[in-house]
Amino acid sequence: MEHFDTTSHPHRRYNPLTNIHVLVSAHRTKRPWLGQTEPTDRSNLPQYDPACYLCPGNTRAGGKVNEVYTSTMVFENDYAAVLPPPGPVTPPAAHPLLTVEPIQGGCDVVCFHPRHDLSLPTLSLSDVESIVDEWTRVYMKRGTEPGIKYVQIFENKGAMMGCSNPHPHSQVWSLSVVPTIPTKELASLHNYASTAHVRSGVPTGPDGHACLLCEYVHHELTVPGDEGRLVITNEHFVALVPWWAYWPFEIMVLPYKRHISSLVHLTTDEKHAFADIISRVTKRYDNLFSCSFAYAMGIHQRPIPPRQDADGIYVQDADDIAHLHVHFEPPLLRSASVRKFLAGFEVMAEPQRDLTPEQAARKLRDCSEVHYLHTAQQRDIESA
Ligand SMILES: [Zn+2]
Ligand SMILES: [Zn+2]
Ligand SMILES: [Zn+2]
Repeated sequence: MEHFDTTSHPHRRYNPLTNIHVLVSAHRTKRPWLGQTEPTDRSNLPQYDPACYLCPGNTRAGGKVNEVYTSTMVFENDYAAVLPPPGPVTPPAAHPLLTVEPIQGGCDVVCFHPRHDLSLPTLSLSDVESIVDEWTRVYMKRGTEPGIKYVQIFENKGAMMGCSNPHPHSQVWSLSVVPTIPTKELASLHNYASTAHVRSGVPTGPDGHACLLCEYVHHELTVPGDEGRLVITNEHFVALVPWWAYWPFEIMVLPYKRHISSLVHLTTDEKHAFADIISRVTKRYDNLFSCSFAYAMGIHQRPIPPRQDADGIYVQDADDIAHLHVHFEPPLLRSASVRKFLAGFEVMAEPQRDLTPEQAARKLRDCSEVHYLHTAQQRDIESA
């Protein structure tokens, strides 16, 4: 058995003071930094960049060659934050307060499209649908691997979010533990289901119990006009600035017609509506300050897909309390270059914001859904 080494083996340390875990992946410091930074304006990016490790046919840092893909492409991250099982056994704690937990899993990269210069807001709706299909496939594949307890799909967009490569892509980390934030959210959903009453006309969670998010989104749909926090709605989903939003233009996307616990539960129509709202939200984001809008985006749903019975029907279990939703957490505050920083009070005490969520929602409602680069191109064509 391999010897456990904190600099080579990913592990989780527990903070008994705050009840939060920290994932330590020191082996990743060996990964190369390409020195690229994402521009705030993508209009000058080439369609193909010979130096990009995600463009079709190019060689990645680990020496592997990308296929010449035409839609989405998935590969295992050459510098994964967690490593596949089996990992070494962690040594006994030197003190009961200094606990360490081994963690295993895998990290996949999902490239959105072969074009280097595009991004979610400038991809076509059918491209975004292909991405949703790919996320669903990876969630299903990774979430049914032995020992995997949680799958996190996320996108870091923009140099501001630490993303070094502008080529459109997201990541999927699958883990042998359920991390801190989804654990808290699931506990809140369970607690609500066991204590709250269902109001008439509001969709319910499993077994007719109240769902915190079904109830919340139902209320938001009834708040009138400028007092509201809705940004857009479609046939099955809403995008809103949540009442408790922390980031200036934070958005939550969630289904409102029925309780849906994961991507695999979406009908064809719902999947189409999901892609539609992601496409429209990200267009509004880019148009807000006429820039490629940076954000951290993540999908919260059942930790892993449900078990299927002999007929392929999903078997309901306690995790179905999860209500599928997407968080968009963008750092920009006032312009393409003025961002929110986490200052003393926020790091030491609690989150703080200036702009109200209602004001942010109003500004996002006022944005066009015709991408500003498209508008600029039209102007150039007309004036030529
Ligand atoms: Zn590229
Ligand atoms: Zn629900
Ligand atoms: Zn969430």
